[in-house]
Amino acid sequence: MSARKKTLSGYKACRHCKYVVPEDAKQCPNCGSEEFTYKWRGMIAVLDPAKSCIAKRLGIDKPGVYALELVEE
Ligand SMILES: [Zn+2]
Repeated sequence: MSARKKTLSGYKACRHCKYVVPEDAKQCPNCGSEEFTYKWRGMIAVLDPAKSCIAKRLGIDKPGVYALELVEE
């Protein structure tokens, strides 16, 4: 697993579950939220949440790409 420090342009993160989606996405495919933020740091690709200790720590239970941290304004 690798984490990036810089914000990735072109992508935004769900405010509720931190799922990372392309910036033109209207709705989070993970939790259905329509609230996103462009201010997020780091990303993690979770392939098998049941076997990932990082996923457990972040409360992730579905496979996907997630932001490690949302940056509050
Ligand atoms: Zn979400």
